[in-house]
Amino acid sequence: MSASSLKSETIELMGKLGVSQAALEGGDLAVHSPTNGEKIAEVKTSSAAEIKAQIEKAHEAFKVWRTVPGPRRGELVRLLGEELRASKEDLGRVVSLEAGKIPSEGLGEVQEMIDICDFAVGLSRQLYGLTIATERADHRMMETWHPLGVVGIISAFNFPVAVWSWNAALALVCGNSTVWKPSEKTPLTALACQAILDRALAKFGDAPEGLATMFVAERDGGEVMVDHEKVALVSATGSTRMGRQVGPRVAQRFGRTILELGGNNAGIVCPSADMDMAVRAIAFGAMGTAGQRCTTTRRLFVHESMYDDMVARLKKAYLGVTIGDPLKSDALVGPLIDKDAADNMNKALESAKASGGTVTGGERVDVNGDASYYYRPALVEMPEQTGPMFEETFAPILYVTKYSDFDDALEMQNAVGAGLSSCIFTLNVREAEKFLSAVGSDCGIANVNIGTSGAEIGGAFGGEKETGGGRESGSDAWKAYMRRATNTVNYGTALPLAQGVSFDI
Ligand code: NAD
Repeated sequence: MSASSLKSETIELMGKLGVSQAALEGGDLAVHSPTNGEKIAEVKTSSAAEIKAQIEKAHEAFKVWRTVPGPRRGELVRLLGEELRASKEDLGRVVSLEAGKIPSEGLGEVQEMIDICDFAVGLSRQLYGLTIATERADHRMMETWHPLGVVGIISAFNFPVAVWSWNAALALVCGNSTVWKPSEKTPLTALACQAILDRALAKFGDAPEGLATMFVAERDGGEVMVDHEKVALVSATGSTRMGRQVGPRVAQRFGRTILELGGNNAGIVCPSADMDMAVRAIAFGAMGTAGQRCTTTRRLFVHESMYDDMVARLKKAYLGVTIGDPLKSDALVGPLIDKDAADNMNKALESAKASGGTVTGGERVDVNGDASYYYRPALVEMPEQTGPMFEETFAPILYVTKYSDFDDALEMQNAVGAGLSSCIFTLNVREAEKFLSAVGSDCGIANVNIGTSGAEIGGAFGGEKETGGGRESGSDAWKAYMRRATNTVNYGTALPLAQGVSFDI
């Protein structure tokens, strides 16, 4: 497909999704497809004044929306899910076009949006608190969950649509309004999501104006949202570097944050592992999405008795994996997002070699010329955990190290700053249970005989330490989008004070 036809495909797809051609032309932010490097759109960024006005409007919308019954709010999210079902193919294709994901991953991301909408609709009838035993006669103590305010959503390029929906679906059923700043690398998918949501809002009928909106901006636009006192919660997904800036700034004004930051995820392969299963899971976890998932498997600790076999099988997978244009082929590995990502990959591989690593793969593959960055995923045998293994490099690099003692493997797995996802391959119940126990993996996600990536929406998603501690998606993650009030009601005739205190006047 030629450059101009990629641009026309973009215009056509975006038109089908409800975004006008005018919104894709003449703006100050150029959008390039990582699939071939071509400029496919120029979109307009918002000024600080425009963003502030949008937040003020969202705050007014919140004041109305918080009075709408939860199940009725759920109806809006149900409609959003319906619109997403209708747009799945087209939106999935724009994800491939703009973020470079292979088709099944682009579609999978939209499916994740549909799943969270379904979850949130059910949740809209279950925003429940507890009734708690009270020490005072004729009293009742309970807790109530109330809407919080404006939720500011900041998202990363690598999950350009799903992360927004995780946040927006929960925030909306919880009675909040939302303002979204997508990654400056992926504004088109965001414009498409807004058009889809606008259709749901139109069908819903009487939602307040400005309830859920987005704006395109670079980092400085995100900072406006971070510092705005009317943004009650900033849910920020991206690098640990970003979280280090956003966290303290929001805390300074006593705002709340959900931080979903970088991962440096590891797997442990034990002597009893089902090797076929482990190889498949590790290959997907490490090479899938060209290594650009927060949950990508980046480190692997293999028992010395299995090491040679595992490395031989992985080498075969790495040398055989198909690399190609996700818009034109059924290759399993697509491009890196941009030149910076490629430079970071090369730097990490040089550093690994300097630390004694042996690299298989990792070379650039010419798919569509110089303006796009396709690389063969790299498998790096490391003599010990050292150098670049301690950092997240957002590229398909898997470091493999031998271990002999299980406790040492656990220690190595936990010895990095990030704490997002982890996995173990074993058929030994002692190893599996220890891995999941308080002295096991220190990550927010710990899996047995499943790789580090590909989480379902039903569980709470997020990680510890430098991953930021936030939780989104399933389980009781909704509580972060609401405020809790403890209520004590006295239905008696006396006024007993707690702890037996007397204060008779
Ligand atoms: P990034 O940190 O460069 O950017 C993420 C977003 O933050 C962008 O929208 C950016 O404009 C904004 N931003 C950056 N600095 C900011 C600041 N000071 N104030 C306000 N906004 C700011 O990340 P990226 O390169 O787009 O994405 C890759 C990173 O995201 C990886 O580290 C990956 O692990 C992480 N990630 C984490 C999760 C998770 O759930 N834990 C999910 C996806 C991606």
